[in-house]
Amino acid sequence: MTVDSPLTDLRGVGDARAAQFAKRGVLTVGDLLALYPRAYENRGKIIPLRDCTDGELHAVEVVCTRKPAVGRTRSGLDYFHMYAQDDSAPITVTFFNRRFLLPEILPGRRYRLYGRITMGLYGAEALSPEIEPITPGKPLPAIVPIYPLSGGLTQKTVRNAVLACLPLCDGLEEELPEELRRRYGLLPRGEAIRRLHQPRSMEETEQAKRTVAFAELLTFQLALRSMRRAKDGVLAPPLPPVAGGHSFLESLPFALTNAQAQAIREIFADLERDTPMTRLVQGDVGSGKTVVAAAALERCATNGHQAVLLAPTEILAEQHAQKIGKWFEPRGIRTALLTSSVPKKQKEAIKKGVKDGEIHVLIGTHAVLQGDVSFASLGLVVTDEQHRFGVRQRALLLEKSEQTGPRPHMLVLSATPIPRSLSLILYGDLDVTLLRELPPGRQPIETMVLLPKDRERIYASIRRQLAQGGQAYIICPLVEENAELENASPKKAAESYFAELQTGAFAGIPMGLIHGKLPPARKAEAMEAFAAGETRILVSTTVIEVGVDVPNANVMLIENAECFGLSQLHQLRGRIGRGTRKSFCVLLNGSGDVCERLDTLRDSSDGFAIAEADLKQRGPGDFFGDRQSGEMTLHAASLTDLPLIAETSGALEEILPHLKEPAYHALSAAALRVVRRAGNGKTIN
Ligand code: ADP
Ligand code: MG
Repeated sequence: MTVDSPLTDLRGVGDARAAQFAKRGVLTVGDLLALYPRAYENRGKIIPLRDCTDGELHAVEVVCTRKPAVGRTRSGLDYFHMYAQDDSAPITVTFFNRRFLLPEILPGRRYRLYGRITMGLYGAEALSPEIEPITPGKPLPAIVPIYPLSGGLTQKTVRNAVLACLPLCDGLEEELPEELRRRYGLLPRGEAIRRLHQPRSMEETEQAKRTVAFAELLTFQLALRSMRRAKDGVLAPPLPPVAGGHSFLESLPFALTNAQAQAIREIFADLERDTPMTRLVQGDVGSGKTVVAAAALERCATNGHQAVLLAPTEILAEQHAQKIGKWFEPRGIRTALLTSSVPKKQKEAIKKGVKDGEIHVLIGTHAVLQGDVSFASLGLVVTDEQHRFGVRQRALLLEKSEQTGPRPHMLVLSATPIPRSLSLILYGDLDVTLLRELPPGRQPIETMVLLPKDRERIYASIRRQLAQGGQAYIICPLVEENAELENASPKKAAESYFAELQTGAFAGIPMGLIHGKLPPARKAEAMEAFAAGETRILVSTTVIEVGVDVPNANVMLIENAECFGLSQLHQLRGRIGRGTRKSFCVLLNGSGDVCERLDTLRDSSDGFAIAEADLKQRGPGDFFGDRQSGEMTLHAASLTDLPLIAETSGALEEILPHLKEPAYHALSAAALRVVRRAGNGKTIN
């Protein structure tokens, strides 16, 4: 047996069981070793029944005193009572639907029970506790691992399967050199994995977890870094200022903010070098990132190289294409929009133009990444709202660019501010520019948290705003009614709500509807009509969350605001307050329960502060897109463990100069495997 052996090589694992494991992604013995417990139960502290605290979790050791009594409740549930005692008191244990346990319950036999012990009228009682027979001379483990389950697996099945492959731990290849382990207080790898599954004490689980998480984060960070630096010394085309060129920046109707000017200076300085730029611009919604990106795109195009701007949604790609086309086309820079809804013929023409170098700036969704777009000379890749892209997309892009020769410069725009330590993980070691300034003249957005009973009042004030020339977004959590969800608590669905409002509260007012299930052309139509002011209200799902820019819109009503994450609400709210009108955002709390999150949002407009709060409340899941479910899932480490992330980042810096030494070969190889796996999944979701 090796780590690559199929699970069916384990005793007691047949095809059916293997299929259950496969549902969790556990295919090989090695996968099983990497199925880390999600928690531990300390069943080692045995106390006398008499000393149990009513209603608390306890471990007790008892002897079965007589045959169990079997019965059936009126509603048809199977149960049996087990009668037992220890030296201090008797206990009655009830098991529901556990008939299969019956043959194991024998008078005179000893058992360890673990569960909630209650003190009833007739002595101690327990309901369906964990039960393990005690065999003389074979002590039970004190610390019991609890595994993440799914697909019909039970704890016992997983535990037994894991135990069967623990002997492999002795021969596991070491990933971290001994010297590094000593410095950071880590166990040998095999030892750590064994202790994770079979710990002798709680302290041991901690050290084992730390070891495995440390190695995982280190490998992960190294993988990200090597994705970026896949070929050391690869050069990018230097993009110096072009003599006599007048930038579109000079024709803008507004002056750049200091933050924008500074960001553009930093980017230009990067672009003039022949080492590839890898810069992240983080700016709150509305801080004006598009102009900053456009400055870079223009610089690239005027140098005779091509540039790409990638957006996470078609709507956003179209907006960018419009805006940037307007800025660039008069200056002889040819732009094109490539999304999956562009007709086939036109697509071919665009691809040809890109290949021949006739198109200078290509704007599109990640569809651009798929298939067969090749560039004459790619000099710069800008990805907007990068947190929507996975690592995989980035790997693909690098691959693509390497086919065409020199490495392009990379610029990433993100409206989701993340703490430095997290951005290290997410982006490797990108240089970070912060845009912590909004363009002048912005009216602060007045945010209110209201309840369904306020609805009529809300509609009335929306009508007032419309009468004064404003426009409104109404955001719903669902596209269509969903009976299942409906039962829990009714949620607004865009389609039916649109119909209801059109004939009700906003009868006679031109309205548009937009959601993700509409065909792209209909989406674009609805968006254009709203942007042009032809429709005054846009009922929408969160498809308008990122980047959409209609400065005249000044009201937003978010239905079931309690369903959304903080950062997401902040992004949504960022669609208003973009023009000179006073803007209002109503967070309608449909649940009626107190919702602290909504209050946080009402009281703050600082995206950075909100993101921190979100991270604390919900963990980093939202920031990572397909990282969580994709090929780069972390097993042992948690992305909320900022201290460990910082520690491993530090360790990585220390070991970088030594990576070529034999002691680090195993680590490099592990990182390479992560990169391969990330790059292999060719589908983009
Ligand atoms: P985001 O950072 O959210 O992508 P955008 O680039 O979409 O922001 O800019 C939001 C709005 O602010 C746009 O209408 C844009 O034209 C405008 N804008 C950008 N920079 C400035 C500025 N310096 N002064 C005034 N308006 C600006
Ligand atoms: Mg934007």
